[in-house]
Amino acid sequence: MSVKQVEIVLAPREPHYVGDGFRVHNFIPSGYGLTMQRMDPFIMLDYGAKFYFPPSPSKAKGVGVHPHRGFETVTVAYKGSVAHHDSGGGGGVISEGDVQWMTAASGVLHKEYHSDAFSKSGGDFQMVQLWVNLPAKDKMSIPKYQAISNAQIPKIPIANNGGVVEVIAGSYEGNSGAATTFSPVHMFNAKLNKGGVAQFNLPSNFNTGLLVIEGSIIVNETEDVPLDHFALFTNTGELFSITATEDSVVLILSGAPLREPIAAHGPFVMNTRAEIMQAFEDYENGKFGTLED
Ligand code: MN
Repeated sequence: MSVKQVEIVLAPREPHYVGDGFRVHNFIPSGYGLTMQRMDPFIMLDYGAKFYFPPSPSKAKGVGVHPHRGFETVTVAYKGSVAHHDSGGGGGVISEGDVQWMTAASGVLHKEYHSDAFSKSGGDFQMVQLWVNLPAKDKMSIPKYQAISNAQIPKIPIANNGGVVEVIAGSYEGNSGAATTFSPVHMFNAKLNKGGVAQFNLPSNFNTGLLVIEGSIIVNETEDVPLDHFALFTNTGELFSITATEDSVVLILSGAPLREPIAAHGPFVMNTRAEIMQAFEDYENGKFGTLED
């Protein structure tokens, strides 16, 4: 066992809007070298840093009906609440601390909005949307939806009243996460008190990174990672530590690379160009089902 080092610490890029409700900083795959191949199986990471939305009671902000095929969309809510509906019958509202894990697989239509309650009240909004690629053999499987409330997520205490590690997926110190995944993926929210130190042991070949959602941290006692910054780890070593220099929330991602060809176009991520063309054809022919705007 050896130490997993920080390869680079990245500041958030200029934000852009997805629809009119999601003001996001993209970390994967645009710029910075965090390509789909480098971060495999994580193929997209949009981070909505904390941002105040005024009340919009007459119309919920968000993004209207659109398709996905070939991967999973994972939404982690930190502030505010997101409503979701999809053509597979999945739907619901996720709020602070909850996670929505949608397996688009062979294809769904969905829409993502601020919840009605949040639209009426307004307030701080903060979320992550991550796309996790599916192995080729699972890309055309049946769509699936996992609504994971915060209460369902195992919380592993950190020594010396340091806080907790919430195990969204994978496992932490032998404790399994709430979500089921198609390939080995660890996803944790470390919620640390000031001075808390959490240790991690993740395989050297897994692509691994972390995003500081609240507060600020020091990794391996040497690398400062400020608020809203992403730290990428090298693919050597297994062990790293996080020390919270104030009360902090840190999203940790680590996945076994699929090492399969990637053909990506907009909302479709497949293995070949022909499969992308087929996705467009199937979408135009209504094979993704129906969903009202
Ligand atoms: Mn979507």
